[in-house]
Order: sequence, then C-alpha cells, then structure tokens
Amino acid sequence: MTANLRDEIIYYTSYRMNFWNCNRPCFDKNLYFLLPALFKHPSIHPSQPPRRAMSSSSTHNSSSRALRIGIIGFGPFAQFLSKTITKQRHQLQATSRTDHSQLCARMGITFFSDVGEFLESGNDVIMISTSILSLSEVLKTIPFHRLRRPTLFVDVLSVKEYPRASLLQVVPEDSDILCTHPMFGPESGKDGWEGLNFMYERVRVRDHETCSSFLQIFEKEGCRMLEMSCEKHDKLAARSQFIAHTIGRVLAEMDVDSTDIDTKGFESLVQLKRGTERDSFDLFSGLFIHNRFAKQELENLGLTFGKIKERLLQRMEEVETTNPAENSTRDEN
Ligand code: NAP
Repeated sequence: MTANLRDEIIYYTSYRMNFWNCNRPCFDKNLYFLLPALFKHPSIHPSQPPRRAMSSSSTHNSSSRALRIGIIGFGPFAQFLSKTITKQRHQLQATSRTDHSQLCARMGITFFSDVGEFLESGNDVIMISTSILSLSEVLKTIPFHRLRRPTLFVDVLSVKEYPRASLLQVVPEDSDILCTHPMFGPESGKDGWEGLNFMYERVRVRDHETCSSFLQIFEKEGCRMLEMSCEKHDKLAARSQFIAHTIGRVLAEMDVDSTDIDTKGFESLVQLKRGTERDSFDLFSGLFIHNRFAKQELENLGLTFGKIKERLLQRMEEVETTNPAENSTRDEN
C-alpha cells in the first residue's frame, strides 16, 4: 500500500469516525476493514473528499508547484524565509539596496544588482520584504514595464493597509496582489513554523494556482493560515504586536534583565525585551507610522499607565491615613 493511499484511508476513516460521534480521538489501524463500507457512503466517496473542518485555509486540496520566486529587499527577514523556501525546492533570486551577492551565492540564490534585469528574469512571484519605511521609495525604483509576464506580487510587511494601497497604485493591472504577514521572525520561528500564525488577504488574484502554491509554502510548514482583511489585521496588530514591541522597547530602555530570583512572568518579559531588541528600529517605527490604529493604542497605553500609577498612589495614601504606624515603619526602611 502506498503512503498516499494509507494517508487517504486514515483520513477518510477518521472522518467517518467523527461522523459516528466516536469518542476515540485516534484512528485505530485495525479499523481498515471498514473501508469498503465507508466508500459506499455518498458523503465520503473518494471523488468527493470531505473538507477538513479544523483547517482555516482554503488551499488544502489545490495542487502545488515549484515556483520561481524573486525577492526585493534581502534583509534579515527575507534571509530567514529563504532558508525554508529553498528547502521546499522553489527557485529563488533576489535584489536589494545592499550588495548581498556573496551571501546569496552561499545560499544558492541568484543575486541581481540591477532591478530591471531582476524583473526580466521571469519570476512567477515577486516577494517584497523591504522595511516598512522604505516601501514607497523602493516601489518608485521598480521599472514595472520590464516585467515579461503577469506576476504575483506578495508583500510580507508587518503592517497591511499601507502596502495594500501602495501596491494597488503601482502594480500593473494584469498582475496579481497578495498581502501577507507571517507573524513570526528569525527568533520565534527558529525551531520551525508549526502552529505560527500566517495572515493573508487575496487583494487581486486571478492566477489561483500560483497564489495557492505560494500559500502552501507556509501551510506545508504547519502555519496557522488566517485569511482576513488588511484593515482587520492592522486593528488587531495595533493592540497586540505593536503593544508587545512598545513594552519590549520600554523594558530595553530601562535596562531590565534577568536576576537570580526571576518569576516565570518576569522571564517572559525579559524574553520579550530580547526579541524586540533584535528587530530594527525601522521596523518598530514602521509599525507605528504606517498603522493608523497604532497612535490610539499608544495613547491608551500612556493614559492607562497614568491611571494605574494614580490608583497605587491613592491606595498608599489611604493606608497611610488609616494606619500612620505603617508609614513610620516604611520611612525607617
Ligand atoms: P527591516 O529593517 O524592517 O528591513 C530591512 C530591509 O529593508 C532590507 O532588505 C533593506 O535592504 C531594506 N531597506 C531598508 N531601507 C531601505 C532603503 N532606504 N532603500 C531600499 N531598501 C531599504 O528588517 P527585516 O526584519 O528584514 O524586515 C523586512 C520586512 O519584513 C519588514 O517590512 C518587516 O515589517 C517584515 N517582517 C519582519 C519580521 C521579523 O521578524 N523581522 C516578521 C514579519 C514581517 P538592504 O538589506 O539591501 O540594505
């Protein structure tokens, strides 16, 4: 029996067991004998595979092909993504402001110092991984007229409404646009991408096969695929990622570091500080400047900090008035 057939059997049979509301969480190999009966049921005939209810992605059943992927902006994040993308046998080439040709040669990636030649080299996908702050400047330098054929443009910037609007303005009408945010980086993804969030919006997609093959790079690594609008992403990210980066930067400014008596909570804070320090300040400022929801969150953070400080001082005053003895003890210390 081939591995594929065995997977199919396990898949169909475990699906059927859910259908019976069976309590056993795993498929038992001894249940192979159920197969003939299972395949007679119209709802689970192999020609009509059931959709996997747990998956949030719609790319599961589509085929994947090797892609020729060009990267614009070969900084730390693009280098990190490239290792996994090449492992999956896609062909990579890159162009960047800085000359990364030696590093690229070591990684088996063709480097172009001329953006025009890069565009003419016939990519299926062009992935933009420049800093948020340099995006508009970088887009201005791209001679789109030198594209040989319709191409899928993908961005991986950590804000989403801004690249969406910028790409819609400049990408030729016959080319597609996919906006994505792999919500992990060289540190959080160093041991693999299993279970890490990958957000995307199909902004303008006609070539579904190429788009789906690109998304499958992340799906195959076990990412949690989240299709949502760029607007919703920015709203959520301002309250989560931006707040995390800001707190991390505050801790770094305070020179907070491990002590001999760390609690688990404090260990997480030190980790947060180290993680955010590794990201460039350009990245952090981009999260603020180009996410219209971030300003409000920064305001809230400042106001809330003030409120909490106020409550603590108020409480201290209450304790001191009701029990002046405690006040004198503290002063002695
Ligand atoms: P970054 O500091 O945000 O961006 C570095 C990249 O931007 C490099 O390729 C650099 O080119 C290019 N760049 C910077 N200023 C430029 C300019 N004036 N003109 C042309 N190119 C310029 O660091 P990063 O971590 O590599 O991030 C790249 C993108 O991925 C960002 O948009 C970020 O939001 C996104 N992202 C990062 C992470 C992460 O964990 N790091 C996670 C998800 C998404 P050269 O190398 O040629 O100088």
